[in-house]
Amino acid sequence: MTALVLAEHDNAVLKDATLATVTAAGQLGGEVHILVAGSGARAVAEAAAKVAGVSKVLLADDPAYKDALAENLAPLVVGLMANYDAFVAPATSRGKNLAPRVAAALDVAQVSEILSVEGPDTFTRPIYAGNAIATVKSSDAKKIITVRGTAFAKAATEGGSATIEDASGPGDAGLSSFKGAELTTSARPELTAAKIIVSGGRALGSSEKFHEIMEPLADALGAGLGASRAAVDAGYVPNDYQVGQTGKIVAPELYMAVGISGAIQHLAGMKDSKIIVAINKDDDAPIFQVADIGLVGDLFTLVPELTTKITAAKG
Ligand SMILES: Cc1cc2nc3c(=O)[nH]c(=O)nc-3n(C[C@H](O)[C@H](O)[C@H](O)COP(=O)(O)OP(=O)(O)OC[C@H]3O[C@@H](n4cnc5c(N)ncnc54)[C@H](O)[C@@H]3O)c2cc1C
Repeated sequence: MTALVLAEHDNAVLKDATLATVTAAGQLGGEVHILVAGSGARAVAEAAAKVAGVSKVLLADDPAYKDALAENLAPLVVGLMANYDAFVAPATSRGKNLAPRVAAALDVAQVSEILSVEGPDTFTRPIYAGNAIATVKSSDAKKIITVRGTAFAKAATEGGSATIEDASGPGDAGLSSFKGAELTTSARPELTAAKIIVSGGRALGSSEKFHEIMEPLADALGAGLGASRAAVDAGYVPNDYQVGQTGKIVAPELYMAVGISGAIQHLAGMKDSKIIVAINKDDDAPIFQVADIGLVGDLFTLVPELTTKITAAKG
């Protein structure tokens, strides 16, 4: 079995999401190739060639692939799949946009967001917002899989010496065009890669208070900043801060939930965190059922106090 992994990148840098996907693809038991589809993306292909466990990199360099439009990438992948048994993509917005199109075009089922590889055709995946884990077996000749990045170790970025081959596809399908992207820029760690995350909920009350209370805590801990959906819906922070079932899935060493009730949809995104600390004034809040450490009290008093103590302890 040879697996083709979709590289997540911005035409310059290979993103970490690719590395966990390579690990999952390797567990299928055969060769692992990486597809770098982009424009001016040779540096990404070179980085991909160094990833441990990868034997070949396909570089499809075409202006049509610059912005990773799924409408253009799907025919490319479908064409390449004649030579592959599995297509494995990270369960990111990009992977989740592309993989179903590939599965539909190949008339096979997709296995979504796998947590483990039990065999070349058997996988586990979350259902009911992560409250149950299903073991699924695919009898399709070609497997189309997306991978939950937090469930697999990242492949090493050094140690591989894959060959780089040019690949091509139909190019621009003429179905869509890229108009622009408004991206949040932050010096803080990206949520899916952060070792520490502090998340704020609706209780913060306003965007001003969210930033005033949560940012010093995040800075004191060197943490990524997350939020509940209620905080995002209320406009305190942008969408890409959202942790949960319909947000980002995270599994940091330390997750602090501040003024977050702990609805199952939020827990679905963060309950695999190693240590969970919750601050909530309601001692019955469901977040305390998953928390390792709980502080019952008013966040507007406790968080500044904690921030001051952490800063003092760091000297
Ligand atoms: C299909 C679907 C998908 C969803 N996806 C997501 C998702 O991805 N992520 C997500 O987060 N939610 C998601 N939700 C929403 C989810 O159900 C909850 O509504 C949301 O998580 C609640 O956010 P919250 O905890 O910030 O707010 P609330 O539920 O309002 O909780 C606020 C908490 O703050 C506490 N509090 C209030 N004041 C203070 C204070 N001064 N000090 C300390 N504590 C205080 C309260 O006791 C309460 O527990 C989804 C819902 C649906 C239906």
